[in-house]
Amino acid sequence: MTAINPQELLQQFASDNYAGICPEAWMSMQAANHGHVIAYGDDPWTTRAANAFRNLFETDCEVYFVFNGTAANSLALASLCQSYHGVICCEAAHVETDECGAPEFFSNGSKLLVAPSAQGKLTPQSIRELATKRQDIHYPKPRAVTLTQSTETGRVYSIAELKAIAEECLAHRLSLHMDGARFANAVASLGCTPAELTWKSGVDVLCFGGTKNGMAAGEAVLFFNRKLAEDFDYRCKQAGQLASKMRYLSAPWVGMIESGAWLRNAAHANQCAQLLASRVERINGIRLARPVEANAVFLLASEAILDGLRSRGWHFYTFIGGAARFMFAWDTTAARIDDFVRDLEECAAHAS
Ligand SMILES: *Cc1c(COP(=O)(O)O)cnc(C)c1O
Repeated sequence: MTAINPQELLQQFASDNYAGICPEAWMSMQAANHGHVIAYGDDPWTTRAANAFRNLFETDCEVYFVFNGTAANSLALASLCQSYHGVICCEAAHVETDECGAPEFFSNGSKLLVAPSAQGKLTPQSIRELATKRQDIHYPKPRAVTLTQSTETGRVYSIAELKAIAEECLAHRLSLHMDGARFANAVASLGCTPAELTWKSGVDVLCFGGTKNGMAAGEAVLFFNRKLAEDFDYRCKQAGQLASKMRYLSAPWVGMIESGAWLRNAAHANQCAQLLASRVERINGIRLARPVEANAVFLLASEAILDGLRSRGWHFYTFIGGAARFMFAWDTTAARIDDFVRDLEECAAHAS
């Protein structure tokens, strides 16, 4: 076996899924790796993980574990809709831009109704416009709304914004789904409880992301409106999302939730984003594209500066949110942020 070049193992800020597995998730998987248990979710680890979610959210919700976020979102939305229904989302939404049509596929054709948005957020007004745009039989009937918390653009919906959206949903008889691939970062940012940010604000279904929070894989689908979960287990099985050795998908959640790592990890990532934001503001030629509210920093810089960063080995995306995106994870070190800022300063000085 040839050794991996250590340069390739250096921390990158291209996405929070570049990071490895946090100790709490890892140790929980190790603890689960003893003896034989019943397959397909009838095991003590899965029961304990589901109960940990019920405690955390202070309600008796239905809990399911799937392998990734695309499946979680698609199957959750499919359970809210018939094939002739429409799902209102923001134009920046992951379901629209990054899931290869999976929400439409798994719902047998429910159409995403895309709301334009400069901020990357839905508003009651943008929902109302799409929900009332057409009432005739030739247009898909709006049935659900999906929003992302924290958003793809690194913003956070306040509780007041969520409640206003939920009220609009109620007025048009729309179910409300939350893509929480970075739900933990939103909770850490707002300092509220998970319950306040979901069912107490009118959210029916949450996809709670584990992968970007520090797990190897896995998202939890939480139905606060339990009626909407009917036959969800069959939906998961048909979609190839029912883990046979389920304990390895559920056990990491036990470690994450019972130890509080889910929130610590997110708070750390958010603080790293704040740290970078505070340090780039002083650099000539660099501007923040938008306020930093979660674990993402979007930078506006010339192509020359961005090319300079690339040639120094930094990875980042520029196709999301109209700027260069830098994301932080549970394991980001201040030293690596120092490296980045130093390179950024040098690239900016060269380019000016
Ligand atoms: C990462 C992400 C997902 C999940 O993506 P998968 O690669 O399918 O796990 C879902 N929504 C948002 C906003 C994301 O950033």
